[in-house]
Amino acid sequence: MARIVVAGAGAVGASIAYHLALLGARDVVLADRAEIASGATGKAMGGVRQQFSTQQEVTLVRESLRLFRELGAPLFEEVGYLFFATTEDGLRRLQERAELQRGFGVPVEEVDPSGVQGLRTDDVLGAVVCREDGVAEPAEVTRELVRRAAARGVEVCEHTDARGLPCDVLVIACGAASPELFPQLPIRPLCRQLVEVGPVAGLPVDMPMVIEDEAGFHFRRRGDTLRLAMTEPRPRWTDTEEVDDALVEDWRARLAHRYPPAAVAPVVRAWAGLYDMTPDAHPVIGWVTTASTRPVVSPATASCNHPRSAAPSPRSCSSSLPRST
Ligand SMILES: Cc1cc2nc3c(=O)[nH]c(=O)nc-3n(C[C@H](O)[C@H](O)[C@H](O)COP(=O)(O)OP(=O)(O)OC[C@H]3O[C@@H](n4cnc5c(N)ncnc54)[C@H](O)[C@@H]3O)c2cc1C
Repeated sequence: MARIVVAGAGAVGASIAYHLALLGARDVVLADRAEIASGATGKAMGGVRQQFSTQQEVTLVRESLRLFRELGAPLFEEVGYLFFATTEDGLRRLQERAELQRGFGVPVEEVDPSGVQGLRTDDVLGAVVCREDGVAEPAEVTRELVRRAAARGVEVCEHTDARGLPCDVLVIACGAASPELFPQLPIRPLCRQLVEVGPVAGLPVDMPMVIEDEAGFHFRRRGDTLRLAMTEPRPRWTDTEEVDDALVEDWRARLAHRYPPAAVAPVVRAWAGLYDMTPDAHPVIGWVTTASTRPVVSPATASCNHPRSAAPSPRSCSSSLPRST
């Protein structure tokens, strides 16, 4: 019987362990040196979108969407992702990208953004939406996958460094820490932050993720708060998780302009986390060594600017691992 140890109980490791169990693997251990969803997963925005620009990304997200839909609300809410442009150039790019995405089978449509109650749209030139996109609760989704995996026999060990466990196959799903297990992995930590403001009265329950395409400023509803993020002007290539207060104030000003009902909403909390960035911002999935003197190592780490925080479904990886021999 091949013993598979999945290192890291974030969204990726939890999903791999769950799918291995679904595929019939009988000796699987899911180990996290801290706690379930304590890495980037527990710090993510929770955006789930199909609106990507490569076939691979779209395929991966569409595969994952089946699971998100099965989980349903409140873990996943299909409220859509609305991108809008405020310049002619931006609008052209938005429309070209939408055309490309339709070619991949993504149902992107042009839309009148004034349908989003409270959103300022007098400076908006055009918008697109994919109504099948939405927002998730990454930590809760991950805990649910771990619960399901455990119910199918996966052994779950928190506060356990996977490197100390005997195994035949080691699956690396350690996010930004993955190179600690296999230094050749081309992964660099990128610090990003989020801010939550509220309470905001009257937020529509079906409010989509709203994204200013040119600036990358975006926000989503979470209960009676709004969670804000933005592509930062200078990427922070560091493994120090630190909130930049100047960015917090900048984002609040942007929100006051874009969503006036939240103009005076105070900050509830702000936090930072680490993206596990790869050179092309695509996931790394594959075997890295099969040396017989050491465990086989298969990296299953992932990153892109918006990969699949809440519940990836890397079946391609799970199905290539030995289930029982
Ligand atoms: C601020 C922010 C916002 C984001 N927003 C989004 C978003 O809206 N949508 C989206 O799709 N993605 C988003 N992401 C990206 C997303 O969070 C990550 O891609 C995803 O969570 C990575 O999951 P993971 O399981 O690979 O890594 P992690 O969640 O980082 O989990 C890795 C785990 O490995 C454990 N670990 C490390 N070393 C060991 C070891 N030796 N042994 C055992 N365990 C170990 C850690 O304790 C950790 O729990 C965001 C990320 C950040 C930082």
